[in-house]
Amino acid sequence: MTLTIIQIPAGPIDTNTYLVIDDAANDALIIDAPPESVELLVAETTKLGATVRSLIVTHGHWDHIGATAAVASTFDVPVSAHSLAVDRIAKPETRFPIEIPPATVDHFIDEGDVVRLGSHVFTVMHLPGHDEGHIALHSAADAVFLGGDVLFPGGHGRTDIPGSDQAMMNRSIKRLLDLPDEVIVYPGHGETTTIGAERLWMTRLAGGA
Ligand SMILES: [Zn+2]
Repeated sequence: MTLTIIQIPAGPIDTNTYLVIDDAANDALIIDAPPESVELLVAETTKLGATVRSLIVTHGHWDHIGATAAVASTFDVPVSAHSLAVDRIAKPETRFPIEIPPATVDHFIDEGDVVRLGSHVFTVMHLPGHDEGHIALHSAADAVFLGGDVLFPGGHGRTDIPGSDQAMMNRSIKRLLDLPDEVIVYPGHGETTTIGAERLWMTRLAGGA
């Protein structure tokens, strides 16, 4: 059965939230809940008649979590994140351009865990570097990588902020070289790309990892 992935940029720095829909049952996952994303997600799910089953948070940066509590309560769904992302989600820092309400994480997910949506299976990858509690979802069968701020078109997420680490990032990028070229990358900011389109710079970077 097919998978539909809808990219919705939201919030002050255009952070992508993704509505991932299993077309067979019209069930959906939401990946990240940027500030000001709730109304957009409600409009899209209403239009499509999709039922949201859970919210997966890739990492705890403010621009990815601003609507976590609102999405969880609006759709009445559990929140999943890496255990190392919980602190940022439960106690958001206050130095950001807008207020970020705290939220509760219901399920911890980590390397090798599996997230199911109908017949679709996503494997959790723990990919620190941009943030220690950063996870991504990979579906081999669907050739999909929902990568948050690990991998963008032409580069990786910032490694000059608290919780980031360039050496860890290099190792995380090296792991992504194992994914096939045709895998479509759905990043936390910007347009989609593919592993193949990013392979050259990733290979150079990983050479030092
Ligand atoms: Zn980030």
